[in-house]
Amino acid sequence: MVAEWSQALPRLRERVGDRNFTAWIEPISCVRDGDGLRLEVASRFMFDWVSGNFLGDIRRVLREQGCELPITLAVGDGRQVAVAPQVATTVATTTPSAPRTTRRPQIGHLVPEYTFDSFVVGESNARTFRAVQAIAEQPGRRFNPLFVWGGVGLGKTHLVHALANELLRRPRRCRVGCIAAETFMNAMIGSLKQDHMAAFRDRFRALDVLILDDVQFLAGKERTQEEFFHTFNALYEANKQVVLTSDKPPHAIPQLEQRLRSRFEGGLIADILPPTAEMRLAILRKKALLHDLALPEETALVIAARSGVSVRELEGALNRVMAIADLEGQPLTPVLAAEVLGHVPATVGVISVEDIQAMVSQHFGVSVGELTSHSRERRLVMPRQIAMYLSRTVADASYPAIAEKFGGRDHTTVIHAVRTVEEKRQQDQAADDLLKTLGQSARKGPHGRKLPPSSSAKAS
Ligand code: ADP
Ligand code: MG
Repeated sequence: MVAEWSQALPRLRERVGDRNFTAWIEPISCVRDGDGLRLEVASRFMFDWVSGNFLGDIRRVLREQGCELPITLAVGDGRQVAVAPQVATTVATTTPSAPRTTRRPQIGHLVPEYTFDSFVVGESNARTFRAVQAIAEQPGRRFNPLFVWGGVGLGKTHLVHALANELLRRPRRCRVGCIAAETFMNAMIGSLKQDHMAAFRDRFRALDVLILDDVQFLAGKERTQEEFFHTFNALYEANKQVVLTSDKPPHAIPQLEQRLRSRFEGGLIADILPPTAEMRLAILRKKALLHDLALPEETALVIAARSGVSVRELEGALNRVMAIADLEGQPLTPVLAAEVLGHVPATVGVISVEDIQAMVSQHFGVSVGELTSHSRERRLVMPRQIAMYLSRTVADASYPAIAEKFGGRDHTTVIHAVRTVEEKRQQDQAADDLLKTLGQSARKGPHGRKLPPSSSAKAS
């Protein structure tokens, strides 16, 4: 084996994790190719996935160990698809349907595949999606700032990159900056060190739209908060659009200066909740389409029922199934999917709302009748909201279905309950722990019953 490659393998394993390593890195064969290294993979699918997700890590690890050779990635059957040595990894995927960004952002890098088109819209994100679309139409006019918050892997970055891509695609000239809060901080520190602060400020203040991703990162970073506060004000006062994302709402970000928090709260706060069962299927279909892959509906059902709550986990499950099917030359059957994902605990789809109600009523010492009643007694309100929340996130029931099973309420009550509990969860460690425990015992079932190992996925 090529020495540089075998030296890189242990570091890569650390970097990408065992599972990814076995599925994606280990199968690569590395050969010398003129003055460089050629990494060969078995199929077009592997090529897309490795170039889209791991090539950056591979290059970094090789560089860190002092290997500066140009690297190309190729499909090993002779149909070479070369990747230019310095192309950014996100641009390297060559899915034919991938739309191209015509212009680059003034600040930051965008994932070209993150577009409005490739974003599945449904109950859990529709309101936020509409707000972002309105901003694409008229930045700086409405919803300023827009503060998008939601759990990890629910599509925040996708959505704001889609906004940036859309703004840059349109003929109207719009100067866009889209960066992670952490990158903002690093750029600021770099400018401070080199005494370039004036230039740093000018760059940001010349933007029409500034998107700052993952602002929860600013927690406790006083100097960065101060700098960002001034950037924010300068843009805001000039009617420029600011969009922020975070894994929690503004008031739940610890050690965030009051004045910054009130700025964040001054516009529209919009959340992204975990996708519904229907959306999970739609997302799987869309991802399969992007990979040019025929995914049977039955198989999609199994995957949707056997992956974690976030879209990222859902994608991960799909990718594992596709990888194994590809490596073993097998069709994407539901049985194969169940086999591949078998060891993943089923988190959704096989637990009923009734199971949740029974479990929650037992935990809080209230009856199921009280839980589903319309009584506003204080001791019932929180358990009821928690039961609704778990019905949504663990049992994966739709809002109307939950509303029906909680005494025929309006489904907006359920949406409100899910939001309230999600917020509490973000703010309060004890609440988060309690919900984790309840979620786990719901999955085990009321009598410690284990869920069946193979598929018993249901449609919605
Ligand atoms: P976050 O920034 O909230 O942690 P990301 O935007 O990184 O989440 O999303 C994680 C993955 O899930 C990405 O690959 C993204 O394309 C995908 N994803 C999330 N939401 C959607 C959606 N509604 N439609 C299609 N793909 C989605
Ligand atoms: Mg993100």
